[in-house]
Amino acid sequence: MSHRVINFYAGPAALPLPALERAQAELLDFEKTGMSVMEISHRAKEYDAVHTEAIALVKELLAVPDNFKILLLQGGGNLQFAMLPMNILHSGKKADYIITGQWAKKAYKEARIVAGDNARVIATTESEKFCRLPRPDEIKVNADAAYVHFCSNNTIFGTQWKTFPQTGGIPLACDMSSDFMWRPFDVKPFGLIYAGAQKNLGPSGLVVAIIRDDFLAACSDKLPSMLQYKIHAEKNSLYNTPPCFSIYILRNVLAYNKSIGGLAAIQKNNLTKGELLYGCIDRYPQFYKGHVTVKEDRSLMNVDFFLPNDEVTDAFVKEGKANGMVGLKGYRDLGGIRVSMYNAVTVDNIKTLVAFMEAFAKKHA
Ligand SMILES: *Cc1c(COP(=O)(O)O)cnc(C)c1O
Repeated sequence: MSHRVINFYAGPAALPLPALERAQAELLDFEKTGMSVMEISHRAKEYDAVHTEAIALVKELLAVPDNFKILLLQGGGNLQFAMLPMNILHSGKKADYIITGQWAKKAYKEARIVAGDNARVIATTESEKFCRLPRPDEIKVNADAAYVHFCSNNTIFGTQWKTFPQTGGIPLACDMSSDFMWRPFDVKPFGLIYAGAQKNLGPSGLVVAIIRDDFLAACSDKLPSMLQYKIHAEKNSLYNTPPCFSIYILRNVLAYNKSIGGLAAIQKNNLTKGELLYGCIDRYPQFYKGHVTVKEDRSLMNVDFFLPNDEVTDAFVKEGKANGMVGLKGYRDLGGIRVSMYNAVTVDNIKTLVAFMEAFAKKHA
């Protein structure tokens, strides 16, 4: 049995152990080919089965309707920040952006490069250090917007949209990199969903995107081929050599997710983890101070909190590590502690953390 830690890194992040063990078992001789999946032609039937299954599992687990295409892309979440406006904001089209953190800001910045003033901010909580999400009455969607972009989970500041912004029928476009598939949700209001894989799905670099047919039809065909959603959709994400190994790991993760009961079971685990961890923070309000001020906005993926001073914070990280828990140090600009508890972090892992936090609070308070 290998040495494994409890991994609270924000990304790349923990993956389900059975998905990794499957990769280990299959590495040298994949499906009796005498090769690893990295060494097989991406046009061979053995790879094609993996590719097809990965896409089918996204569709099945999320109940994606037939009028959506599921794409497997490269370039991480960051390339999507640019690809989305490049594809949609042609011919003077405009879009609205909701700014709730660093990633949402980056998405907006790329849209400004592509579309200038046609990319507009319609709500932001930056002046409050992103400690909450904008309320519905603070979001005024422009009637001429081709889409409304938001980031469903703020990996850095620890807020998460439990219900999505209302846009009166204007398509949502969403960066779901850090909470994709944490629960079932209705994809129908979305023109585009994209998620870098390294938080909840698999290796970095790979992106899973879901695009609605009418949104796809509105995409530009005057861009370099690799930047066109239309080409990736027409070629079933096999326009060029895909990141085969990353897609294979994605397949393993999704197959594992299905085996444990799908997204309903995963959501139940995530809710339990949230109750355990936020329950502990709320029991010691003088010692653990959460960054997010509105309870409903608290993320079930990334939990930011502060301890009384830097010495105690450093001791928390150090003693956590000595107890087999890594990745607890907060984001550099925010400080404090960040616990990232994506799907692969188990309820037992959080019980271990909470027991540590209880003992630590008693010792240092
Ligand atoms: C991690 C993350 C990204 C960054 O994606 P890359 O794959 O590094 O380009 C984008 N958005 C969110 C919300 C993230 O958490």
